[in-house]
Amino acid sequence: SSLKELDDGVPSPNRTQNRLAEQNEGSLEAGFVNEPDTDPALVANREWAYGVIDQVADSGFLASLPTPAPLGSDEVDTVIARGRKAAEGWAARPARERAELLYRVADALADRRGELIAVMAAEAGKTIAQADPEVSEAIDFARYYAQRALELDSIEGASFHPVRMTLVTPPWNFPIAIPAGSTLAPLATGSAVIHKPAPQTVRCSTALIEVMWQAGIPRDVLQLVEPVEGEIGQKLVSHEGVDQLILTGAFETASLFHGWRPELELHAETSGKNALLVTPSADRDLAVADLVNSAFGHAGQKCSAASLAICVGSVYDSERFRRQLVDAASTMVVGWPTDPASVIGPVIEPPTGKLRRALTTLDPGESWLLEPRQLDETGRLWSPGIKDGVAPGSFFHLNECFGPVLGLMRAKDLDQGLALQNAPDYGLTAGIHSLDAAEVTQWIDEMQAGNLYVNRSITGAIVRRQSFGGWKRSAIGVGAKAGGPNYLTQLGQWSPAEVPG
Ligand code: GLU
Repeated sequence: SSLKELDDGVPSPNRTQNRLAEQNEGSLEAGFVNEPDTDPALVANREWAYGVIDQVADSGFLASLPTPAPLGSDEVDTVIARGRKAAEGWAARPARERAELLYRVADALADRRGELIAVMAAEAGKTIAQADPEVSEAIDFARYYAQRALELDSIEGASFHPVRMTLVTPPWNFPIAIPAGSTLAPLATGSAVIHKPAPQTVRCSTALIEVMWQAGIPRDVLQLVEPVEGEIGQKLVSHEGVDQLILTGAFETASLFHGWRPELELHAETSGKNALLVTPSADRDLAVADLVNSAFGHAGQKCSAASLAICVGSVYDSERFRRQLVDAASTMVVGWPTDPASVIGPVIEPPTGKLRRALTTLDPGESWLLEPRQLDETGRLWSPGIKDGVAPGSFFHLNECFGPVLGLMRAKDLDQGLALQNAPDYGLTAGIHSLDAAEVTQWIDEMQAGNLYVNRSITGAIVRRQSFGGWKRSAIGVGAKAGGPNYLTQLGQWSPAEVPG
């Protein structure tokens, strides 16, 4: 069934009631403003959200969604050759034409917000509340990269040369926003793209790419292939016709791809093991709220999620703080996206490996402050878990587990807290809750992570306001942050090599 038909089933949010969104629509000249999320305070928007939920609840919905055609091993060369050829014409177009197409993509994404949310909810288990901001973020990427591409094009005395072919391999955990950003950035520079979806969220990618085609991005410039793995996957990823790879996924995946072809230019945002540090000067009520949101939003399946709470001295020793944390986590409703009350949705598949271990095993010194429970026979719904007494250097201290588990660690002071927070190999997000300016300054100086958050949650980076990227093992390759001013400039070459100004 076509997207048009699907779209007919989902009424659009009442955009006349969303004046900010209306104001964003239209031309490049308007300048960049972040797209607002749907405001649930408006009755019309709630009715609209119920319409989306009805669609997701329809048992035939998921099966009705389109997926890409199979890709044979002998077709890999053809797909790459087609894209490389199309790239010539695409790069030769004025930057303004490409930017205007990205603007049309942004408007089309806004028009199809409901449908994209429905696909995310049905395929990835995202709750409506978690899926809605993803559409806003995808729209932001389109408009922000369009604007940046024009700005770069107008730098006098320098010209930007895009690569011919970019392969994009997005993750399943943000199945619209990240695929959108990683695809639109190279397109804005003049590169052709082959988009290989994550196997778990093929339909999300398909819906997204169809929106881009319908908005006017040519089908040979932007090609969608099935999520090939094994031999064909290796052939595609390591093909010499691919100039660069934009990947978001596990560190292990990025390393594997890098090993296949070390000369391939890689832009990879990978894993994280993120902690929020709480010092005795913190506003503890705020810290508790930010901890549970950062740890359990989208069932903890964010690279940015907090999986450790490092509590300094009297915070760790406070019974009241623990009780508040447990109370806050226990009141988060766990359920499927078809239940509008759900706050924590399902995990992507029944837990195996590190996540299963994190949910079911206690290491020496650990105890459950809140024991996670499997809530139904699908194995995908888990109530949130909080581990106490996570030991320095232990499995849970150092490993990314990617699910609804938070571990508490004790530090005697800020220095020790920082050492614990910096100990994992990764450096993606980090937070501190402290009302002491000197503590915050020291922490900012010494914390080794791409995204530092003070007195707030550590997830939910917003395009341009908080560009997003990692240090240490949270990134491989050339890695300017996504949604930031330098993201596009790394996706090609400048001549002369030193850019003026
Ligand atoms: N940008 C997302 C956030 O800040 C995280 C992206 C990821 O999980 O890869 O929440």
